[in-house]
Amino acid sequence: MQNNDLHSVAFPRLSEEELASLAGCPLTVLKQYKAGEKLFRVGDCDCNFFVVKSGEIEIVDESGDTSHVLVVHQPGEFTGEIAQMTGSPSLADAIARRDSEVYELSPEAFRQLLNHHPETGDIVLQAFIARRQLLREPGTFTGPRVIGSRYSQDTFRIREFLAKNLAPFTWLDLENSPDVNALLKQLGLGEADTPAVALGRKRVLRNPSNRELADALGLRQRLEQTVYDLVVAGAGPAGLAAAVYGASEGLRTLVLEQAAPGGQAGRSMRIENYLGFPTGITGGELAGRATVQANKFGARLSIPSPAIGLTFENLYSVLHLEGNETVTTRCLLIATGADYRLLQVEGCEKFECRGVYYAATPLEAQMCIGSEVAVVGGGNSAGQAAVFLAGQVRKVCLLIRGDDLSKSMSSYLVHRIEQTANIEVICNSEIRRMSGDGHLDTVEIVSNKTGEARTLKTPALFSFIGATPRTDWLPVEIEKDAKGFVRTGPSLAQSPHWNIPRDPFLLETSRRGVFAAGDVRSGSIKRVGSAVGEGAMAVQFVHEYMKEM
Ligand SMILES: Cc1cc2nc3c(=O)[nH]c(=O)nc-3n(C[C@H](O)[C@H](O)[C@H](O)COP(=O)(O)OP(=O)(O)OC[C@H]3O[C@@H](n4cnc5c(N)ncnc54)[C@H](O)[C@@H]3O)c2cc1C
Repeated sequence: MQNNDLHSVAFPRLSEEELASLAGCPLTVLKQYKAGEKLFRVGDCDCNFFVVKSGEIEIVDESGDTSHVLVVHQPGEFTGEIAQMTGSPSLADAIARRDSEVYELSPEAFRQLLNHHPETGDIVLQAFIARRQLLREPGTFTGPRVIGSRYSQDTFRIREFLAKNLAPFTWLDLENSPDVNALLKQLGLGEADTPAVALGRKRVLRNPSNRELADALGLRQRLEQTVYDLVVAGAGPAGLAAAVYGASEGLRTLVLEQAAPGGQAGRSMRIENYLGFPTGITGGELAGRATVQANKFGARLSIPSPAIGLTFENLYSVLHLEGNETVTTRCLLIATGADYRLLQVEGCEKFECRGVYYAATPLEAQMCIGSEVAVVGGGNSAGQAAVFLAGQVRKVCLLIRGDDLSKSMSSYLVHRIEQTANIEVICNSEIRRMSGDGHLDTVEIVSNKTGEARTLKTPALFSFIGATPRTDWLPVEIEKDAKGFVRTGPSLAQSPHWNIPRDPFLLETSRRGVFAAGDVRSGSIKRVGSAVGEGAMAVQFVHEYMKEM
């Protein structure tokens, strides 16, 4: 979307009719605010939603060194962005610029507006998504300031965590940013204290873990001490689909995610074979939209909240989280997918996030603009990465072990690669060694046909060589196949852990009431569409099981 279009979607004015219907809602309150009075402050959680009836409301960014007005809402316009949906802390202050009259809706009333007035709800949701997109554009909003070197693994981890969770932030590169020394001085920090994250003008986190950062920014939602109908472990396509269907069908639904919504799909810059997106969609955008959709129906998402263990109490599943936290649920959906396989090459580990990457998004591409890069792998994910990177860097060398790309990659991608002048496909190649001083500098490859060696000078190698299931946290009661994927379906009626007189449902595991969907499931098709389909199907079996209970 062009910036002008984005701006008009982000700041629409509700019509007289929409305002009249809003005013008529029983939960809408009409309120007056005096000039200078605050409607909400940065950091406030579960903020009310405001529509300006008369006067002006300004939204002010207080996260940089000086205050900065982001927008002034006029009559018919409304406050809020994605944080309003998720209940996470507000990113800015809202202040009455002059005496103003507003319609005010509590979070509960706001949810009713979205679900009972779909036309107004659509305008508001589209505006929220567009506003978050604008806030993430460089120079628009300061947000948390990440100070750190481009060659530091922790700086990369922090930036990756914020970017994947769609949190707006500013990165000050120790090597390149002109303002970095002044900011370090102002915060009383030296280079040795980095990476650091400045929150506002005074608060500093030194090399925070993802969990500390999430807690400080209020990204991690409070877990209620209640019994959920459905807990979903993993917010990839399968988990997010289950959250949308579960919550929209009235199930009390919680999603636990260890890193960021989107899963493996979040690592793709162009998914072209997912139904309904003829021009393709980035995994990040798909995940962002699905997260808003799940929130809209009332699902809770807690990130980062890795499930580290599972036990059973009577008919309930009890998930164990870090810090001795537990969550109890009637039904559990295991949707923890699969994780990238590490390259088994000498010296590889020390270059992770310092030249060796397992995703190709703008975050990684930023580190190698103008260079020659290597992509390893012969599947669709490697093909997509090569095509995306070819538009960002000088040259891409695509390294495959076999002798023919079309044996493992979809023909549309093979065709695109053939047509891209700056992609060189190097067949029959294997990586022998990687070297560099602190950061990747050269990759030595060798032909598995002729033994001939070749050295690529490159600051970045992108690896897409398959994935292994994330099931090490599951107990023996959940049967797995020889490769560690979760088994499901009627054949498990023979399992020693299955002890009731009916066959397991199609997506049910060897434990009643525990289901599995997506890439984590034995025999699944590794596609976004099938993961989404299975997530949706699993909810149907949850209903069947709840009836039985
Ligand atoms: C780069 C790339 C490009 C791709 N492109 C396409 C494409 O164009 N078209 C297509 O159809 N498919 C594509 N795929 C495949 C597709 O992305 C996967 O099949 C799909 O994402 C599987 O979804 P899932 O929800 O089952 O699992 P995943 O996507 O693996 O998601 C699992 C989620 O669970 C979380 N998790 C793991 N363990 C825990 C835990 N213990 N507690 C809590 N959370 C946990 C993970 O962090 C992750 O977010 C691509 C894959 C990759 C890697």
